[in-house]
Amino acid sequence: MRTADVLSLSASYGHDCVVDAARSVLARLRQEITSGLLDENSLQLALSGMGLAIENELRHALSYSLRPVINATGVILHTNLGRAPLGDAAIEHIRETTANYSNLEFDITAGVRGKRDAHVSRLFEKRLSNEVFSTQSQTNNTRAEIATIVVNNNAAAVLLALNTLADGGEVIVSRGELVEIGGSFRIPDVMTKSGAILREVGTTNRTRISDYEHAITERTRLLLRVHRSNFEITGFTEQSSIAELVALARERGIPLMEDLGSGALFDLRSVGISGEPGVLDSLRNGVDIVTYSGDKLLGGPQAGLISGRTDLVGRMRSNSLFRALRVDKLVYAALEATLLAYVRSDHDAIPTLRMMRLTKEAIGKRAEALAERIVAPKVKVEIVDGESVLGGGAAPSSSLPTRVLAITVEGLSADELSARMRASDPPVIARVEEGRVLLDLRTVFPEQDAAVAAALAGIVP
Ligand SMILES: *Cc1c(COP(=O)(O)O)cnc(C)c1O
Repeated sequence: MRTADVLSLSASYGHDCVVDAARSVLARLRQEITSGLLDENSLQLALSGMGLAIENELRHALSYSLRPVINATGVILHTNLGRAPLGDAAIEHIRETTANYSNLEFDITAGVRGKRDAHVSRLFEKRLSNEVFSTQSQTNNTRAEIATIVVNNNAAAVLLALNTLADGGEVIVSRGELVEIGGSFRIPDVMTKSGAILREVGTTNRTRISDYEHAITERTRLLLRVHRSNFEITGFTEQSSIAELVALARERGIPLMEDLGSGALFDLRSVGISGEPGVLDSLRNGVDIVTYSGDKLLGGPQAGLISGRTDLVGRMRSNSLFRALRVDKLVYAALEATLLAYVRSDHDAIPTLRMMRLTKEAIGKRAEALAERIVAPKVKVEIVDGESVLGGGAAPSSSLPTRVLAITVEGLSADELSARMRASDPPVIARVEEGRVLLDLRTVFPEQDAAVAAALAGIVP
């Protein structure tokens, strides 16, 4: 601690941090000595470089662990990479409302306590109720307004909905829909935690409406449909349609809930993906309650949304679990900004929607411009057709056509190259396929293209 270079570190980092770092460096050195890895010369070298080693340790310990990365995988909603990046308006709205006091739970006009969900429920109403009612068929236009509440994530939304609607009673689910989403969300387990009893019907590959019908007893509280977010069942299969389930639920006076998972608020057909039901489709078809994530296809912050019949949503709001699962003002701010973009039909303001709408040609042009900037002799770059995917439990078997940079470097394996790209600052995360590193610019922000080129230029085999 008294050597000159360590003393000067104390001046900038503070005594306690430096002591901590010095202890870590010494502990490592001791271990290397006892394991016999160091000869006399290397030991002298290590001792003379102590100041520098401590400084590196300090830098590492005092820098952020959570940091930005460049997503060149082409997976738009990558759960490992934070799912949906937020748009500028969302960031600005978080900044202005959280760096100050706000009217989070305050009714400014009346001067009394307000509800935190007022800020977004008005926008959900605009986006959902208006659209649902404007196109609703004569048969179900007697339905009440649609209400929406926000909880921490979709797992919490499913838990709250099941606990409110079916605690102590039975919930009927098809055996083909007992899904596990990454990170230990399993329908049977969430069901148990909610206090509801799972009543499985049908088989893995085929479930008919009569299977649901026969399972209904006086203990039945809910019919549940779960979106097969990350897998498909193909071959000899059958799944009841939403229309059949709605008809049965109405006839027996039992609510129907759909766990949509990804839950788009826009028409996915506009980006060439069909067969994926959106939130509006489900509500229009008469599903009573839908649950979906805020940071999947919606393109906002992590949240769980519950939309549907006002009476049922009202019961969830009065459940004490709702208080335990509520979200912070940061989330409301980001969600409000994201929803406003939908209400204004400004889809380009939502980064993930912008990425989905990029054409293969536009991505190809950027790939060519980037390839021209790479003038390293041992680096070989080709531009080839590829496929981007939505990720985040949406349309598991659909993809968007794209153009990717396929990179090989003489003297480096694809895995080594991809590790080098991850080691650059900011880290570039790529896909490895058939011995090549693939970079899909669909998920790279255009202003990051230069950083990707710089990362590649810095690769020396
Ligand atoms: C993603 C998903 C969930 C979990 O949502 P989180 O927001 O990650 O908690 C639940 N159900 C389905 C069908 C999903 O796709």
